[in-house]
Amino acid sequence: MNEVYKDVAPGKRIKVLINPFGGQGKAKTIYERQVKPVFEAAKCVMDVQFTERHGHAIDIAKEINIEKFDSIVTVSGDGVIHEVINGFLQRPDAREAIRKLPLGVIPGGTGNALSISLLGEKAGFDPQYTALQVIKGKPMTFDLCSVTYADHRYFSFLSQNYGITAYADLGTEHMRWMGDARTIVGLLQQIFGKRTYSMEASFDVIESDKSKIAADYHTAYNRSEEPKVIDENAPTGEVIDSIPPLSEPVPETWTTVNGDISVFLTSKVPWLARGMLSHPYCMPNDGLLDLMLIKKGASVGKQLDVFTKLETGKHISNDIVSIEFAQYDIMTCINLFVGQIDYYKVKAFRLTPISKPSEKKNYVAIDGEHSPVKPFQVEVHPCLGAVLSL
Ligand code: ADP
Ligand code: MG
Repeated sequence: MNEVYKDVAPGKRIKVLINPFGGQGKAKTIYERQVKPVFEAAKCVMDVQFTERHGHAIDIAKEINIEKFDSIVTVSGDGVIHEVINGFLQRPDAREAIRKLPLGVIPGGTGNALSISLLGEKAGFDPQYTALQVIKGKPMTFDLCSVTYADHRYFSFLSQNYGITAYADLGTEHMRWMGDARTIVGLLQQIFGKRTYSMEASFDVIESDKSKIAADYHTAYNRSEEPKVIDENAPTGEVIDSIPPLSEPVPETWTTVNGDISVFLTSKVPWLARGMLSHPYCMPNDGLLDLMLIKKGASVGKQLDVFTKLETGKHISNDIVSIEFAQYDIMTCINLFVGQIDYYKVKAFRLTPISKPSEKKNYVAIDGEHSPVKPFQVEVHPCLGAVLSL
């Protein structure tokens, strides 16, 4: 047998969900040409289903017989993964179903943040490599977040996004043909249009010192711990929030920020898109969200100042976060043109978006999908999800 497959147990039963609409509509071809041969070589048994509409994957995950499969694999963008997670969490046996059927992730959409965050920008975009991850990977836990509006609650695994980055995600649907470059184009439109957004946000800050956050991250990284595997004795039953309900005030210890911002972007993963290492210190199981907050745009004076320093590299040494950002074009661009980046580790937050009468559109993106532009709150639930990881 080929060396690659030698330690793979044959007969792995895989439920494959393909979104024929995702990305540039290439998911089916990606599966058939690059993924299926790898699964077949590893003697997997596949049950392939195409998603037929928005929300279809929620129903599939809600109804799937968890005894029949060993993993559920999405060939899509992050949207279908979001739906699978939410389908599982609507089941009476939610936590059991999540553990029994860890996710396998094949990039087939525009936004493939989970895939890139698991394997890096190159391998995370490579269907064959991600197929290998499905057959050879071990189930690793990752944190999920509950998202609560006045009239509904669901779960998020990636990001909660308000401001110019939400526009970049959602306001650029008409540029789908561009692939993932549409996000970058949207962001540049907003940056050069000097667009700002209004809000009130409160968050439960665990750490706000960027140097400390960076140091803690590197310590954890250098320990190179084994990924957290599923704990069979982990709690079962409903996932209950510990923060006050939306109708009550937030605890006094929370930090509140009012007014105009460019970006309010919380994430559970470091990479939100290719070329966008927006949250370099994210960890899958730290029970925290990384918040990137950029208040109102920098003055022209500050921008010129940054440009002067750019030649000497001094802009980097002034800001520990931009050391990691500097190599990535889009983050450097935000840093230069938009302004000072605040970076926090938070356990929960509440956000009230405020639409400006002068501006036509406003967006909230949760996991890259449209969400109501209304008050909502988010709490992290540690180690709730499970994904196959190398
Ligand atoms: P992308 O990363 O390109 O946005 P996703 O996998 O995230 O791709 O999917 C985008 C959206 O497509 C999701 O909201 C999903 O519900 C929806 N969807 C799934 N199947 C179909 C279909 N057959 N037709 C239209 N939309 C679909
Ligand atoms: Mg998407």
